[in-house]
Order: sequence, then C-alpha cells, then structure tokens
Amino acid sequence: AVLTTDVTIIGAGAAGLMCAFSAAARGRRVLLLDHANKAGKKILMSGGGRCNFTNMYTEPASFLSGNPHFCKSALARYTQWDFIEMVARHGIPYHEKKLGQLFCDNKASDILNMLLDECAQAGVELRLDTRIEAVEKDAQGYALRTSLGPVRCASLVIATGGLSIPTLGASGFGYQLARQFGHSVLPTRAGLVPFTITEPQLKAICDELSGTSVEDCLVSCNGQSFRENILFTHRGLSGPAILQVSSYWQAGDAIEINLLPHLDLVEWLSEQQRERPNSELKTILGELFTRKMAGLLAEHWFSSKPLKQYAPSELEQIAGKLSAWQLVPSGTEGYRTAEVTLGGVDTREVSSKTMESQKSPGLYFIGEVLDVTGHLGGFNFQWAWASAYAAAQYV
Ligand code: FAD
Repeated sequence: AVLTTDVTIIGAGAAGLMCAFSAAARGRRVLLLDHANKAGKKILMSGGGRCNFTNMYTEPASFLSGNPHFCKSALARYTQWDFIEMVARHGIPYHEKKLGQLFCDNKASDILNMLLDECAQAGVELRLDTRIEAVEKDAQGYALRTSLGPVRCASLVIATGGLSIPTLGASGFGYQLARQFGHSVLPTRAGLVPFTITEPQLKAICDELSGTSVEDCLVSCNGQSFRENILFTHRGLSGPAILQVSSYWQAGDAIEINLLPHLDLVEWLSEQQRERPNSELKTILGELFTRKMAGLLAEHWFSSKPLKQYAPSELEQIAGKLSAWQLVPSGTEGYRTAEVTLGGVDTREVSSKTMESQKSPGLYFIGEVLDVTGHLGGFNFQWAWASAYAAAQYV
C-alpha cells in the first residue's frame, strides 16, 4: 500500500523535528523519516552533552553564507526568544554560560524530549531506521521509494543536515537530492573544527602542551577575529577561538594569535626589565602563562636570559611574537570532529521566506543542508529552529 501524507520530512534532527510539529500544528499530516535508529543524535551530543540550544545575541552577522542576506527573514520570524519561550513552557532549566550562550542545566536530552513530546502531541508520524531509495516528482507531488514501501506527499522537506560526524548519521543525501532537482551545491568543507599542525617545531610545542588552554586570546584569520580561549592538543590547536576562525580558514591561509590581548606587552616587558633586571625571561613569562608553557616558548622562540641583557629592540621582538604569533595550520581534523559543514545547497535558488526550492515547487530545504553556517555558541541550532519554522508555515 502507498503511504500518503501532506508533508514528508527526511531527517529527524534539530530542523526536521521542529518543522514536523510546527507543520502538524497547522493541521498538516506529517511523516518524519530518518535512516538512523534514533532521532536527534546530534542534539544529544551537542554542547558537551548540555546542548547550547540558542544564543541571546543571535543576529545575521553571526552566520556565514554565500548569500549573507538569506538568513535574515527566517531569523526575524522565529527568534531566540520564541525558542526560549518553548523551553520555559516545558519547564526545562537552563542558564547562560557566557556570551549569550544558553545551555541546559541538566542534559541535552531535555531538549530532544521536548521536541519529541511536541511531535507526539501534534500527531507527527516518526519512522526511524528508514532508507530513502529514490525520489521522483510528478503532477501530484513527490513519490518516494523507501524501505517502508512507497510514500506519496505534496510537500517534501529535506532536513538531512551536513557531512559532519558520519557516525551520528550524517550523509551527503541532501546535496545529491538537491542536484537531482537542478540545484547548485556550493563546495562543502568542515567548519568549527580543530586545526592540525605537522611542522616539526610547532608540533613539538603542541605535543608538550597538549591539554593546556590559554584564556582570552585574540585569534584572527582573513579579516575575522575572535577573542576566546585556545587549547593545545596532540594534533594541533583547538578551543573556542580556534574553532571560530576555522570557519573562515582555507588551506594554506595563515592565522594570527595574540596570546595576551589584554596587555601592552612592550610596556609591560620594559617595566619588568626596570623593576627586576636580574629575573629571567622565562620566569616572568611564567606569571602570564603556565610555567611549562613559558619554559617551552622561551626555549623555542627566544633564548631566556636575565631581563637586563635584552636590548629594547629584542623586547619588541618578543612582544611581537607573543602578540602576533603567525602560523599556517597544516589542515583541519575534518568532518570526523567538525561541528558543522560550510557550504551546501545554494540559497540563491531557495526562497528566504518559505525555504521552498525555486527549481521544484513543493520541495523545501531547512537547517544545515543549506549554505548557512553559524558561529560557535548556539547559532547553528537557532538556524535549524528558524528555518524549520519558516518552512512549516508553508508546507
Ligand atoms: P542534523 O541535526 O544533523 O539532522 C540531520 C538528520 O538527518 C539526522 O538525524 C540524520 O540521521 C538524518 N539523515 C541524514 N542523511 C539521511 C538519509 N540519507 N536518510 C534519512 N535520514 C538522513 N550547534 C549549536 O547551535 N549548539 C551546540 O551546542 C552544538 N553542538 C554540537 C556538537 C557536535 C558534536 C556537533 C557535531 C554539532 C553541534 N552543533 C551545535 C551543530 C548542530 O548540531 C547542527 O548545526 C544541527 O544539528 C543541524 O540541524 P539539522 O537538523 O540541519 O541536521
């Protein structure tokens, strides 16, 4: 028998779940399909298990896209405050961690359960472990061949996300389907991802300092700067400031790290030289960083001597290195650990009001499969909620 519905949504992640109950609340019959054995796996993993579900300071400038205006309409019509209202209505305790980032007090499963409850209440039919084998369009709408059997619907919503973390169900399905219906897909690459470093001297520093974080660094790349922590790892560099710039980085680009943006270093070093001429450089740097890090930097970058032995130009060089450390990462850790996928379905062929395809009426794209990528801090979920809600008003 053919399963017939008004709306079929492929992908029961953040965007698919949100779209499903919002459309069902309008009286649409909604079938939500996923090939995974569980809905919303990424939600459960997100925010270190506490789900950074939105950001109080969400604005279009926090998103990357080949078409920066595209996200504005949906973000304005379903805001962070709308989502917060739903979270509060479900009695889910949350807090601001920093920089407007809202996290669950308890567990990310609070958010997933909220979305699943809303789906159940609205009468969404959720089917997991379902393979989509083929999709065709005809005069009545869309015909799908699936492991459940044939499915027919008037509106088809693609909410299959990006390529990040294949073990959580990610696939290139959405991009293939977009191409099948005549859409352009902008080149994809890993975003919000740690850098790898193979250059021997730098690699040695990262290895030795693996696990050490430096608070309040200013990291810049291609005209974008982020002031947050960085973290040394066995593979290279991570931490929030690094993840943020990774989305602006292309292979071969240099990044610049100011390890001490809160200090005028030339002035500080000269002052130390006047006050403690016999102290060694690595000793005084040990007051700014961990002693181990100060020792390593002194060993690899400068020769550590008593301060009185440095000429003013040498102090300037030291300050320059610490406040404008330039390096070229070898690469990124890739989709295996990336939080998001940059690029995707070109938004110039999708309505910013309805998320409907301009190539194939009745076909919609929402969430991360589109070429809209948020900064770190709850923006990617807010895009999933807002784009899903926009489509749900029209499917
Ligand atoms: P997804 O949530 O990825 O959902 C896609 C769904 O489609 C999945 O259920 C998948 O199984 C299904 N699917 C894929 N292919 C097929 C197919 N062929 N057939 C059927 N189903 C298919 N963002 C934040 O804002 N805050 C955070 O705290 C945060 N933490 C994160 C932590 C990690 C480890 C990761 C990887 C990401 C994190 N993100 C975070 C990003 C955020 O999870 C995503 O941007 C968001 O989930 C995208 O929503 P989506 O619905 O578009 O895609």
